Amino acid sequence: MSMLNVGRPTRPDTAGESTGHASLSGGRALLQDEGLLFEVGGWEKTGVDLDETPGFDESDLGGLVRDDLRLPGLSEPEAVRHYVRLSQKNHAIDLALYPLGSCTMKHNPRLNEKMARLPGFADLHPLQPTSTTQGALELMDRLAHWLKTLTGMPAVALTPKAGAHGELCGLLAIKAAHEAAGQGHRRRVLVPTSAHGTNPATAAFVGYSVTEIAQTDDGRVDLSDLAAKLSDDVAAIMVTNPNTCGLFERDILEISRLTHEAGAYFYCDGANFNAIVGRVRPGDLGVDAMHINLHKTFSTPHGGGGPGAGPVVLSQALAAFAPAPWVVHDGEGLRLEEETAGEAAQAFGRMSAFHGQMGMFVRAYAYMRSHGADGLRQVAEDAVLNANYLKARLSVAMSPAFPEGPCMHEALFDDSWLEGTGITTLDFAKAMIDEGFHPMTMYFPLVVHGAMLIEPTETESKQELDRFVHALLGLAEAAKAGDVERFKGAPFLAPLRRLDETQAARKPKLTWRPEPTGVAPAPLAAE
Ligand SMILES: *Cc1c(COP(=O)(O)O)cnc(C)c1O
Repeated sequence: MSMLNVGRPTRPDTAGESTGHASLSGGRALLQDEGLLFEVGGWEKTGVDLDETPGFDESDLGGLVRDDLRLPGLSEPEAVRHYVRLSQKNHAIDLALYPLGSCTMKHNPRLNEKMARLPGFADLHPLQPTSTTQGALELMDRLAHWLKTLTGMPAVALTPKAGAHGELCGLLAIKAAHEAAGQGHRRRVLVPTSAHGTNPATAAFVGYSVTEIAQTDDGRVDLSDLAAKLSDDVAAIMVTNPNTCGLFERDILEISRLTHEAGAYFYCDGANFNAIVGRVRPGDLGVDAMHINLHKTFSTPHGGGGPGAGPVVLSQALAAFAPAPWVVHDGEGLRLEEETAGEAAQAFGRMSAFHGQMGMFVRAYAYMRSHGADGLRQVAEDAVLNANYLKARLSVAMSPAFPEGPCMHEALFDDSWLEGTGITTLDFAKAMIDEGFHPMTMYFPLVVHGAMLIEPTETESKQELDRFVHALLGLAEAAKAGDVERFKGAPFLAPLRRLDETQAARKPKLTWRPEPTGVAPAPLAAE
């Protein structure tokens, strides 16, 4: 692998270390080598052919002329190939199983995409007069209705743009409610040890301090530890249900009772709602605020940082504090309540400049309507069935973290089955890449040693799950037989070999500069 002296390695392993076959071109079978846009494009050329603009000899900018922008020029075929080649280096749910636990990488139905591209939705401008956006407002209103119905909660804030943003919205509503009740001294948030990292991060962002709640041996919130830590300075608890170990919190009613008794609010991290949608209404469990990742439960595409949508449902106690805007019906149809005055005087403010991620609203609503109420219930049932199938079949070789009883939508394994092999969870995950499977979530939740968290979702067939099981059991056998090299050197067949992920996370190089020597591009010639 050649390492550019600036930036990250961009070249595949062409030395043939892995297979004994080096290619002359840097390509790998029909997968082409591809550099950065700046390396592929030419400085002296452009992909467009524009007429000279008549009468533009003199700049009106008082001599402020920008030159030497150093933007690479590519012809159309070069630009198209660049991005298609890059896309082939990336894994995608459209290519194969994407078993990242907690992330819910399910198929994104094409119907949703078609609906989101309807010009009446896709071409809207957020500042358009509402008389011209009645259909879009109606869709938001109906989506809100479905979310409230599915969760059994009276209010929903649609604007948060991700799960973490929803957590922020929920905690801000809780903070506003405490302050309105003269309870502003409550500054502590209780979070179980297995929580997603965004939970404590959100609490800290709001200015709260975080206290951890211990976990029982069977992967649930430790009720006695919770009871011991609840006091009159606690603002809220943040509990995920089903939790990040893929288990239903058996004592959820008791958790909410104890929390309310102590004067605190129950924030539920609803990222795993896909496991219970249509079967359990969080409002019935005593939840006060919960975000719903539309991009997980309701199939809108995600990965690579977005876009997502994280609407937050709120209980009666918090509804008045919901952020603006929301859709209201009045004599002239639908409009957005934007002012935090009058009836909306207690709204804590707003979460975003406009109304949220319209494209995601359309996709999620299309998903809900195409499944119907019975279909959504089946989504949860099939997601849980698929995870239990994997748990049962993989348990012959791998060690489930919580062997007792069934799991919900995720099968969680620890690394005790690798003991003595010299192979780690990371090595095993890298070997999966050579088998054509994206690794599962690794080393999360933190409470399980060497965790491997597998979430198949409901959109995988039994045939695909069997292919996955076959590969994993084969790898497990190789690991136990002492074939260490297969794992330590993996991935052998990917365009890039094993990267220094610590270096990449700690010292990311986010800008590109021409190499100091060699192929430095010539500055654009002044016309
Ligand atoms: C995905 C996830 C989040 C964060 O959601 P984003 O949309 O990525 O911000 C929070 N908690 C849990 C349990 C999750 O799985």
